[in-house]
Amino acid sequence: MNAAADVKTKRILISDPVERSLIAGLEEKGHMVDYRPELSQEQLMEILHDYNAVVVRSRTKLTSEVLQSGQNLQLIARAGIGTDNIDMDAAERLGIKVVTAAGSSTDSVAELNLALLIDIARRISFLNRQLRSGKFVKQAGTEIAGKTAGMIGFGRIGFQTANYLRALGLGILAYDLYESKELIGKVSGKYVSLDNLLGNSDFIFISVTLMGGSKEILGVEEFGKMKNGAILINTSRAEVVNLEALVKALKHGRLKGYGADVLWSEPPDSPLEKELISMDNVIITPHIGAQTIEAQGRVARMTLENMQKAMEDINR
Ligand code: NAD
Repeated sequence: MNAAADVKTKRILISDPVERSLIAGLEEKGHMVDYRPELSQEQLMEILHDYNAVVVRSRTKLTSEVLQSGQNLQLIARAGIGTDNIDMDAAERLGIKVVTAAGSSTDSVAELNLALLIDIARRISFLNRQLRSGKFVKQAGTEIAGKTAGMIGFGRIGFQTANYLRALGLGILAYDLYESKELIGKVSGKYVSLDNLLGNSDFIFISVTLMGGSKEILGVEEFGKMKNGAILINTSRAEVVNLEALVKALKHGRLKGYGADVLWSEPPDSPLEKELISMDNVIITPHIGAQTIEAQGRVARMTLENMQKAMEDINR
């Protein structure tokens, strides 16, 4: 096991971009921090054995192979939410603790959900592009008040988005593996089956964690069950949607628009992703859900606190 387990000072590698306050906070606690946000996977595997803890966001992929190269690794900190870039089974098997900053960016992502919906419903980005190219054109959009929003995944972000939508006069349907009477009651909503949600929602939001069951939760069949002209918003992970089925649904008008903050490869590299990005009824932002000054501050504080607690536990 780890030779440095009884030493309070930890060697910490930060392999993705993080707030400076997190680095300063770790150093103030007496840890030795190496900030290497541009490391490739190969470089990571060469040096990981030198560290007791690694801090990642979503860029670094902590696969089983990478984790096995970190013989002295005791702790992984995900400075954010979503552990789909970490092989959690391998981490457990190797006795490596994992901490996250769950909840730190809920408001920021929920606000982005709202912004993407209104942008598509009122064609803001599209008409702005027209104006920039010298065309003064108008197009009727869709009001969102009085419509029905379907939340696939009703956890922190799904709930907070529904909370905002409720205040704007929308009805709420939700589908989740776990149901909370208290949460759904707060937005006067209703839990329904996925099929029911797809058939009755004008606007669909996906806010699920990416796990086995949620991968491609929306494919050809599910797009076929949606209301004609629905708008889909996805700020969770691209892989919860089948890309080919999505592009077809947009081309055939089954979907009126798609707003997202996530891609299958970031930055995008496949021709189909590039086609999707350039469609008039699509707006995709470059994974900025948690990119607000407020959320980044909370991520840094929460990651520092959670790491410190975990390291104290490890030292006991
Ligand atoms: P959460 O854990 O509070 O909520 C996720 C919900 O999804 C849970 O209620 C869970 O039961 C549900 N779920 C999981 N699999 C499901 C399935 N197959 N069918 C139905 N429901 C399912 O997480 P959260 O804080 O709301 O975050 C949700 C996701 O948003 C994260 O996992 C992450 O992928 C993404 N996220 C993106 C950004 C961004 O920058 N765009 C930032 C933060 C989080």
